[in-house]
Amino acid sequence: MELMEKLSTLAAAAKYDVSCSSSGSARVNPGKGLGDAAVSGICHSWSGDSRCISLLKVLLTNYCIYDCAYCVNRRSNDPPRSAFTVAEIVGLTVDFYRRNYIEGLFLSSGILKNADYTMELMVQVAKELRLKHNFHGYIHLKAIPGASRELLQTAGFYADRLSVNIELPSEKGLKLLAPDKSKEYILTSFKYLSSQIDRYRDERKLLRKTPRFVPAGQSTQLIVGATPESDFQILELAEGLYQKFHLKRVYYSAYVPVNRHSLLPAITAPPLRRENRLYQADWLLRFYGFQAKELLDPGEPYLDRELDPKTNWAIRNLHLFPVEVNRADFEMLLRVPGIGLKSARRIIEARRYGSLSFEDLRRLGVAMKRARYFLTCRGKYLEKIDNPVSLRQALTDTADKRIKVENELQLPLFSL
Ligand code: SF4
Repeated sequence: MELMEKLSTLAAAAKYDVSCSSSGSARVNPGKGLGDAAVSGICHSWSGDSRCISLLKVLLTNYCIYDCAYCVNRRSNDPPRSAFTVAEIVGLTVDFYRRNYIEGLFLSSGILKNADYTMELMVQVAKELRLKHNFHGYIHLKAIPGASRELLQTAGFYADRLSVNIELPSEKGLKLLAPDKSKEYILTSFKYLSSQIDRYRDERKLLRKTPRFVPAGQSTQLIVGATPESDFQILELAEGLYQKFHLKRVYYSAYVPVNRHSLLPAITAPPLRRENRLYQADWLLRFYGFQAKELLDPGEPYLDRELDPKTNWAIRNLHLFPVEVNRADFEMLLRVPGIGLKSARRIIEARRYGSLSFEDLRRLGVAMKRARYFLTCRGKYLEKIDNPVSLRQALTDTADKRIKVENELQLPLFSL
C-alpha cells in the first residue's frame, strides 16, 4: 500500500514533463533477456495533449532543494513528498513490464542533496535493470544539469535516451524563475553528451563491439508561456540545439498554471494551441528544410493561430507559387501546403512513369483542400485564388475546424 501511495504521488509529479517519446532506439534482446525496445518499436502512445502515456513515467523523488517558480515540487511549495528507493523503482518497472502495462521507464527526479547524488541514484536504477534483470526495454533518464561527466557517461551506457531540460527559453527567464539552475551547466551537459554520442557512434562503425551510448539520442523540453519569449525566439533556440548538439527532439510544453507565484503569468489554461503550432513549426525545421527565420522574424514573432505554419509561409510567399507538380524538385514540393514527406516522395517516384493529374495526386495522398491553390498539374490550376486575403480566408476555415477538433480532444484528456 505504501508503495502504491508513493507511485501515485511520484507519477502525478512527473506528468508535466512531456519529453518522453521512446522512438529511435535500436536496442535488441538477444533472446534471454526481458523486454525489447526494438521489437516494441515506436512504443509510445500519446494523449490528446501530446503527453506520452506508454512508459512508467515517475520521479525518483519530488523532494527538491531547488526553487523553480513554475514547478509544483519546488522547495518552498508544500505538496505531499515522497521518494522511491532504487530497488522499488526497479521492482515496479520489471513487474509492470511483465504485466504488459509499460514498454519502458521514464525516470526523472527532484534534486536530492546535489546533482551528483541524485544522478548516481538514477544511474543505479538503470544499471540494475540492465545488469541484474537483463532488461532490454526502453529507458529514458533525465540527466541532472551539473552532474559529473563520469556519471553522465555511465548513464549513457545504460539508458536509451538522456535528456536535459532547458525549461525556460532564455537565460533571463532562467535567472528569474529557476535561479538555482545555470544555463552553463545545461549547455555543458548537452555538449558533453553530444560529443560522446558522436564518438561512440563513429567507433562502433569501426568496431562492432563498441558499446552503444545513448542510442536514442538526447532531447530537451521548453516550457512555453511561463516567460515572455516569442515563438521566434523559441524556434531559433530549438534550431540552434538541433544544429549544435544534434538533439533528437525538442519538446514544447504549454505552461500549466499549477502554482500561484508573483513572477508567473496569470493564465487560467495552458496555451495548447501555441504548443501545437510550435510542434508543427519544429517539424518543418527538422524534416522540410525550413529555417526559423523563414517562418517568423522579429517583426512577426508569433506563429499564426489560425493557419498552420507552412500554409502561412506559402501565403506570405505567393511569388513562389504555383508549383508545377510535374516538374518541381523534391525540396519545392515539400513546401507546398498539403504535400507531406510521403506524398512528395511518391510524386517523385510516380513521375517516372508519366505526367500526373489531380486525380493521381489525390491517390498519392496529397491533401488537395490545401494544395489546390498552390500547384498546377500540366499547367492548369484546380482552383485559383491569387489574392492573399481571400486565400487566407479560404484556408482558415479548414485549419480552424481542425484546431477545434484538436482542442476538443486535448482538453478532456488534459484535465484528466
Ligand atoms: S529542479 Fe526545479 S523543476 Fe526540477 S523538480 Fe526541482 S524545483 Fe522542480
